[in-house]
Order: sequence, then C-alpha cells, then structure tokens
Amino acid sequence: MGTDPADPPQAEATMEQCACVERELDKVLQKFLTYGQHCEQSLGELLHYVGQLRAELAGAALQGTPLSATLSLVMSQCCRKIKDTVQKLASDHKDIHSSVSRVGKAIDRNFDSEICGIVSDAVWDAREQQQQILQMAIVEHLYQQGMLSVAEELCQESTLNVDLDFKQPFLELNRILEALHEQDLGPALEWAVSHRQRLLELNSSLEFKLHRLHFIRLLAGGPEKQLEALSYARHFQPFAQLHQREIQVMMGSLVYLRLGLEKSPYCHLLDNSHWAEICETFTRDACSLLGLSVESPLSVSFASGCVALPVLMNIKAVIEQRQCTGVWSHKDELPIEIELGMKCWYHSVFACPILRQQTSDSNPPIKLICGHVISRDALNKLINGGKLKCPYCPMEQNPADGKRIIF
Ligand SMILES: [Zn+2]
Repeated sequence: MGTDPADPPQAEATMEQCACVERELDKVLQKFLTYGQHCEQSLGELLHYVGQLRAELAGAALQGTPLSATLSLVMSQCCRKIKDTVQKLASDHKDIHSSVSRVGKAIDRNFDSEICGIVSDAVWDAREQQQQILQMAIVEHLYQQGMLSVAEELCQESTLNVDLDFKQPFLELNRILEALHEQDLGPALEWAVSHRQRLLELNSSLEFKLHRLHFIRLLAGGPEKQLEALSYARHFQPFAQLHQREIQVMMGSLVYLRLGLEKSPYCHLLDNSHWAEICETFTRDACSLLGLSVESPLSVSFASGCVALPVLMNIKAVIEQRQCTGVWSHKDELPIEIELGMKCWYHSVFACPILRQQTSDSNPPIKLICGHVISRDALNKLINGGKLKCPYCPMEQNPADGKRIIF
C-alpha cells in the first residue's frame, strides 16, 4: 500500500524536520550568546568611561573650580555615547526577534499543526464530563510528580473536588521521597517496617536496602562508628537468607574501617548511586503496594499518543485521499491497531471477532468445542433453535458446551 506507518523513510523525514527546526534554534541561541557577550562588553566599557568622568568631576568639585569648557564638552560627548550605545543594543535586540520568529515559522513549515481531525468529534460529545476527566488526570499527574501546591491550585481553579483519601498516598510518598532526597532514611524505614509483610509478599527488598544504606552511612563515619555499626547489623537478621551475599560484603568491609573505606576494595559501597537507586526502589515498590502506577496515567497516555499520532495522521490522509469517509466512525475505537511497544503491554485483552467488542466480566470470552472463541453476547445471538453453529468452522454444537475463558 505504500502507507505502512512504520515506513523507515517516514521516520527519516520526521528526523529531517526536527533537524530543520533545531538548526533555526541553534541560530537563535548563537545570536543570544553573541549578543549577551557584546552587551556585557559595551556596557562594561561605558561604565568604565562614566566612572572616569565622574572621578574627574569629583576632583574638580573638590578644588572648587567651576566646570571647564573641556570638561563640559566631554560630558556632553559622554551623554551622546550612552545614548548611542543603548540605541545600538536595542536595535541588535530587535534583530534577535526576527530569528525567534523564524523558529516559529520553521515549526509551522515542518510540522502539521492541524491535528484536530485525528479524533472524531464524537469523542468530545460529553464535553463537561470529558473536561472533568482530563482535569482529574492532570491533578493526579501533578500529585504524582510531587507538585502538590500546583495540584491544589488547579483543584481550586477548576472547582474539582478531590477527597483526602485520593491525595493521602501521594502526600505520604512525596514526604518520604523528599526525605530520601535529603539522604534522610528515617521516614522511609518507618514506612517499610510498618508495611513489612506486604512488601515481602511483593518480593521487595526495600527494607533491606534501607538498612544497608544506614549501615553504609555508619561505615563512612570511620572507626569511631564501628560499635554502632556492629550493633546496627542485627537489623540484617531477618534478611540473612535472602541477602546473604550482600550482608557478607558489608561485614567484610568492617575490616577496612581503620584504613578508610574509600581506599579499600569496598569503596563501591560509598557510591552515591545507591541513593538514586533507593529512591527508585521506594517509588516502584510503594506504588505497587498502594496500587498506584509508577508513571501517571497522563504521562502514559501522552507517550502513547506521541507514538500513535504519526500513524493516525497517515491514516487520515489515506482516508481523505480515497474519499472513503465513514471508516472511522467508532467513538471509542481507532480504525486500526497501533503497536505501542512492549512498554505499553499491561494485560491481555480479547476482542470478540463477531461483535468487535472487547470482552468484559459481563460479556466474557467463550471457547466453543471446536476451539474457536467468541464472546457470550455473540454466542447468544447466534443460537438458532437451541443449536449453535460456529461462525468459523460451521461446526454445529450445543451452546451449553462452551466454556468461559479467563486471561
Ligand atoms: Zn469453530
């Protein structure tokens, strides 16, 4: 068909368009840089000149002599120079404007700005409700990103009513994460201990990793912290089996405490990456324990949209070209399946091949005795005189023999 959405030339063309805009952008940045340097230099010179003149005037004032003709000439020259410099800088600044507007034009020229036609208007039918869903998604994203005050502000402005139960987990996660960023393990440890059982069920090593970091921090304190470190090591006891090797490493490092851990084979323990890692582990495990997604639904949707958009624009063009309107009439469904990559695989779904609807609890997939699978609603519709004829292999069978399938 020549319109394969995954066509490499298509991707190449997009890259070329990005490069085009980038080139214009580079020009602006370069101009800004040169302008900044030039500005600083000429203002510096001017200041120096004015400073000198001021000193001269002060000297004359001190001696009580009236302003000489030379000095007043120099002063008027100075004023003119100031005026000229400022005018020159202002006009140079204006020149940058034209470069900035060229970036905008490059974007317009290289990218399709008309993407409204991609979604059918029907999607926005229930405008008010849609708007509320969108606002809620943005608020959730802001909470998830730790931008609590922005989220609160949006709630107020949009008169969105978010109850405390919804906010609470985000507030708690953020409080703990903020402490972790400050290298304060206290709140995270407290949380991990109070959720120990459920964390273990998730196969999480969060609590162990937190204790380990605390231990390492004691080690970094040198020989005077040895006793404290040894006594803290009892916290590893519940993890002895699961993390035997790591515990051995930590115990081994004690030997080098006097020499200094940073000069020992155990210097990797002091690596700062452990702190980044603990933030990640905490976020992932806490989110999964609280039933939250690590990435907000909004960012997942946005990323998916970015992948799907070029494909949809291609399809739109094809539909218009062939004048086969009406193909894209389903409100909740795209005209074709778009591959979003493994990252977006969450759970298996089954769409009934007869009714073209995703199966659900109320309309589950049913496996017929011939092996073909259709939804229950489809099955009910196909029953004729108490018998069912498979729509695929026309095997005749008893509808009651179909078995529900669970994915
Ligand atoms: Zn069949």
